[in-house]
Amino acid sequence: MNPDQDLLGHAAARAIAYTATIDGRGVAASAPAVDGLAAFDEPLPDRPGDPTETLDLLATVGGPATVATTGPHYFGFVNGATYPVALGAAFIADAWDQNAALPVMSPAAAKLHDVAAAWLNEVLGLPTATDVAFLSGATVANATCLAAARDALLIDAGWDVQRDGLFGAPEIQVVVGERAHSTLGKSLGLIGVGRERVLVVPADDQGRMRAELLPDLDPGAGPILACAQAGEVNTGAFDPFADIADWASERAAWLHVDGAFGLWALADPTRQHLVTGLRRADSLATDAHKWLNVTYDSGIAFVQREGALRRTFASVAGYLPPEHGFEAMHHTPQSSQRARQIEVWAVLRTLGRSGVAAMVQQSSDAARVIGARLTEAGVDVLNDVDLNQVLVRHVDGPTTERLIAAVQEDGRIWCGPTQWHDETAMRVSVSSWKTTVHDAERAAAVIVELAHHL
Ligand SMILES: *Cc1c(COP(=O)(O)O)cnc(C)c1O
Repeated sequence: MNPDQDLLGHAAARAIAYTATIDGRGVAASAPAVDGLAAFDEPLPDRPGDPTETLDLLATVGGPATVATTGPHYFGFVNGATYPVALGAAFIADAWDQNAALPVMSPAAAKLHDVAAAWLNEVLGLPTATDVAFLSGATVANATCLAAARDALLIDAGWDVQRDGLFGAPEIQVVVGERAHSTLGKSLGLIGVGRERVLVVPADDQGRMRAELLPDLDPGAGPILACAQAGEVNTGAFDPFADIADWASERAAWLHVDGAFGLWALADPTRQHLVTGLRRADSLATDAHKWLNVTYDSGIAFVQREGALRRTFASVAGYLPPEHGFEAMHHTPQSSQRARQIEVWAVLRTLGRSGVAAMVQQSSDAARVIGARLTEAGVDVLNDVDLNQVLVRHVDGPTTERLIAAVQEDGRIWCGPTQWHDETAMRVSVSSWKTTVHDAERAAAVIVELAHHL
């Protein structure tokens, strides 16, 4: 092996050693590890140095100051772990360093795009013709879908946004649910329709849009863009898609669904009652770095209106049909891009259809166990645990804040806060493939122990 390969072997060994320790250590970075980050405060070197030493510094100083999100005991935000096959595929794909912008730049990336896209449509039960684009996360996937929606709605109204911009365009009527994810506003702002220039539909106690309160909008007053949600970030609740889709189709509205983690319920035969009508959406967004447990950053946009992504994102002659297969740079906001589809393909190929369903079921079973144990112990669970989220309040908001601080201080697990009905609650999100029902029992025992000590 030459020195370059020795260096890579060394890096791989360091990376593998990290994965071997992650399950057993405290979940949060220890205070000494965080203090140790000061070792990175070096002056910019004047001249070239030893790359092995750089990698060693990275591993020894950086590694301990990470949060153990890839282990079984992390329940914060909705942060997924990473399957070994995803990490392994990432190693190989990073070595390839392919630009996935155009098929001519990487036949391998182009082929794996097509295979991963077809498999995603199949495992989620979406029409085979659905356009699939790989992006950096759900925020950008939402924005990508919404930009395509904006342009399609306005083309139908006789206005070409790509040519003429939004000034003077017919006004789009934008409808969102009261519990839409905070980043949806960012996506709406980015596409120029405004974060707050929206009609907000009230939600029920689980955070589901109340479809009976959808406004009786007149499509004659401007095209309609409706944003629904699969998986409320605190409760995991699903909007009533069948009713929303009926409302949307009566008004020729574009229905978009943010399913950053909840969209994967489509793959679970035991959860089809939650997703009735969801497949009727014109566009859908999800993350693969959350529930599919690939590495960051990985989001996916699904657009069912043929040509809509291309109309918005083509750099040249957007009206032309694709001639040389799927050209990612003409279907996404980016031009150069890494081949995120490779890890998605690797996980789908390894799990298979039943394995994706089992991933959703395992996390949801673990969440149900946590919810049940907390309830038995007198700690309040505020949501119906139908998916992977458990929303917890102990006594009241301030006591819950003390419980969260105690959990984070303790270090055996990690959970974070949220606001629910204007008071603090604790969110327990099961998003790691490693978290089994056994780990859930342990996590619940930790929470109960700390709650009783308060
Ligand atoms: C996490 C999340 C997002 C944002 O996803 P990123 O991948 O962080 O951009 C959007 N919507 C919902 C419902 C989410 O859970």
